Amino acid sequence: MELKGQVYQLDGLDILDLVEKYGDPLYLYSGETMQQNFRKLQAAFHWDNVHIMYACKALTNVSVLKLFKKWGSGLDAVSVEEIRLGKMAGFSGSEIIFTPSMVREEDYDFAVEEGVRVNVGDLSALEYMSCAHPEYPLCIRINPHIYAGGHHKISVGHEHSKFGISIFQLEEMLELIKSRGIRVEGLHMHAGSDIQDDNHYLRAIDVLFEVAKSFKDLNYIDIGSGFKTMYKKWQEPSNLEKIAVHVKVKLDELSEAFDRKIELLLEPGKLLVSDAGFFLARVNTVKPSARKLFLGLNTGFNHFVRPMLYDAFHEIVNLSNPDGDKVSYEVVGYICETDTFAKERIIDRAKVGDILAFCNAGAYGYHMASNYNSKLRPPEVLIVKGEDHLIRRRETFSDLISTLVT
Ligand SMILES: *Cc1c(COP(=O)(O)O)cnc(C)c1O
Repeated sequence: MELKGQVYQLDGLDILDLVEKYGDPLYLYSGETMQQNFRKLQAAFHWDNVHIMYACKALTNVSVLKLFKKWGSGLDAVSVEEIRLGKMAGFSGSEIIFTPSMVREEDYDFAVEEGVRVNVGDLSALEYMSCAHPEYPLCIRINPHIYAGGHHKISVGHEHSKFGISIFQLEEMLELIKSRGIRVEGLHMHAGSDIQDDNHYLRAIDVLFEVAKSFKDLNYIDIGSGFKTMYKKWQEPSNLEKIAVHVKVKLDELSEAFDRKIELLLEPGKLLVSDAGFFLARVNTVKPSARKLFLGLNTGFNHFVRPMLYDAFHEIVNLSNPDGDKVSYEVVGYICETDTFAKERIIDRAKVGDILAFCNAGAYGYHMASNYNSKLRPPEVLIVKGEDHLIRRRETFSDLISTLVT
């Protein structure tokens, strides 16, 4: 998003014109930014045998998945439904890795039928797979027991996390693999989202490669994601080159030890789509109160929950008044709960009807939305090559009641 004169634009299009055209609230995405992010990651991990598997739970719209397919990405899917959406977008089985947590046995069966890579994160699932699909090669998700910093809800590789098979259970796991003759073709970890200190990520990678030495049939190593998003402008981005160089050394060592080329998989989500998305909402109310000046928006945590769920900071820009004097607001939603988007946030002075943009709303924005308070979900618009495309229409009241049985 850039300010051209007095007009905020995205990929050359006037954002307020788009709000006029599609209404608000609205999720707006830049295809160009996604592509640049993808290319940047490719450039850092530029050697052969690297597969970027876009973690599609961040932004699952099929039109976006099709773009990633076109650019040569694979897909990380965490549910049967995401596998189905990936197939809709044209991904083949081997281009998808299924990384579920606590799902039904039938879901593994489905993944096998679809021919996707299956990533198993618990011993009981490993046991199940060895009985139901004895020939099917597997990837194993380990829990490296690294505290990755950041918000406790997005750090998922520590000792108390539900994800992955604990490295303390390595012996048990190896015994099971041996006794059942399970073919382990991949080893995976995902230590957490938005790891603030790259060194935490590197340490988790070290653990993964250390464990990998015990798996002689490996074809690939999957380092998950830990790439950060600059939610605050002054944050340092992940040093992709440094991470890539670190991984390359480890990967070459392993390839040499096993005497064959080991492939590398990466699973970035927010790195690819977060800064490509903006959530746009109108000011409904300006409400001075005893201690605060509230800006009440035509939205709430039903549409954009990260600030409430993760205490996430999202920059807020008043698109309607680029040159306004700065005012401190409590930015809140219309939901009948305390749904505060931002406390004491300095924004260009706003009046009723102004349009605010939440930045970095491309990842975990629309796809965490709900119908709470019986509100309707917004549309999604994607800009590709300077043209806007409606890729999901706004919900209607008929959608809301379509599943009711009366
Ligand atoms: C969510 C998830 C990712 C992506 O995480 P980001 O922080 O969005 O990059 C990658 N791998 C797995 C297994 C995930 O669950």
